[in-house]
Amino acid sequence: MAKDYYEVLGVNKNASDDEIKKAYRRLAKKWHPDANPDNRKEAEEKFKEVGEAYSVLSDPAKRRNYDQFGSADGPSFGGAGGSGFDGFGGFGNGFGGFGNGSYTYTSSGFGFDDVVDDFVSSIFGGGGRRRTRATNTPQKGQDLKYNVDITFEESYSGAKKEFTINKNVKCDDCDGTGAKRGTKVETCPICHGTGQVKKNQTIGGFATFQTVGPCENCRATGKVIKEPCETCKGKGTVRKTVKIKFDVPAGINDGETLVLPGKGEPGKNGGPNGDIYVDVRVKKSSIFTRNGDNIELTIPITMTQATLGAKLKIPTVGGEDVNYDIGEGTQSGTRYTIKGKGFKKINSNSVGDLIFTVQVQTPKRLSKEQRELFIALAKTMNEQPPVRKKGIFG
Ligand SMILES: [Zn+2]
Ligand SMILES: [Zn+2]
Repeated sequence: MAKDYYEVLGVNKNASDDEIKKAYRRLAKKWHPDANPDNRKEAEEKFKEVGEAYSVLSDPAKRRNYDQFGSADGPSFGGAGGSGFDGFGGFGNGFGGFGNGSYTYTSSGFGFDDVVDDFVSSIFGGGGRRRTRATNTPQKGQDLKYNVDITFEESYSGAKKEFTINKNVKCDDCDGTGAKRGTKVETCPICHGTGQVKKNQTIGGFATFQTVGPCENCRATGKVIKEPCETCKGKGTVRKTVKIKFDVPAGINDGETLVLPGKGEPGKNGGPNGDIYVDVRVKKSSIFTRNGDNIELTIPITMTQATLGAKLKIPTVGGEDVNYDIGEGTQSGTRYTIKGKGFKKINSNSVGDLIFTVQVQTPKRLSKEQRELFIALAKTMNEQPPVRKKGIFG
């Protein structure tokens, strides 16, 4: 009966915790009853044996006792034969953890969640690796996504927008409880409202695991609805087309996302509603481009305006034009800055600038009169200007 735990795990007496853990993981997977449908009996036996060995050798105190006394429980406890088995009891307790809506494995001695997951799901008839959620804990409702296209002008001034979306909303007829009006939601008598039940699983005839799993009576909700609401069929929510209104803040940039808190699907078990994430796409403007918080544009001017100076009207995204004087002898490509006519920074008082670049237009067609004037002008300045050498700083 007394087995050499080191031999069972195939490690030597000086094996490190890590080596023991690795050996255990490997063997537990190898001998997992689900992985051995053809020799299930033998596998269960081996799986139990491996778990027993690991429960002792992974616990420093038990391992010390075992090394010294041949038993995990030390000399004061019973005979050598059965006592090692008590170490295995810890294995069952390890399944007790049930935090945060999903199975968690809390035994300090074990660190092999994946094996345990397999094991838990095999007990509850799940196929493959599946985590079962406890559904009676408060859960945030699902988040939703929406795309909105706005104009360049709207991104500058801000806008009020709305869209319709088909989503789940709280059922008004039962106020989200799922129970028919006038009836009550009752606490599940099987799990007493916890949504979970303890189950005993016996493997190999004598190793009993205690596991915690979802209560089937209430589908892990902890509540039983005797007479479901007819409107929502007991779900507490109904599908509805809902109009969502929201503000696009001035200064928003293409590709930014707005969050509409609490506008998503309703939460469960008193959890908060989900949110709606609105991805904002800004259409291009035919006149303006955005560069950070600045707005840039090109202003065409005539040769005479460039030569003699001019009063220009500069369009702004906001609407009204801004008058701007350029001096005599303005060169094509000169940039001018109008302060404070750019984009507003969101959540800040800072505002970008409007930057315009003049571009001198060479006339392509001239009237007879204009041609004569140009010819007369040319006679006074008909030499090609010299190529100016650039200084070392350009
Ligand atoms: Zn229940
Ligand atoms: Zn209802």
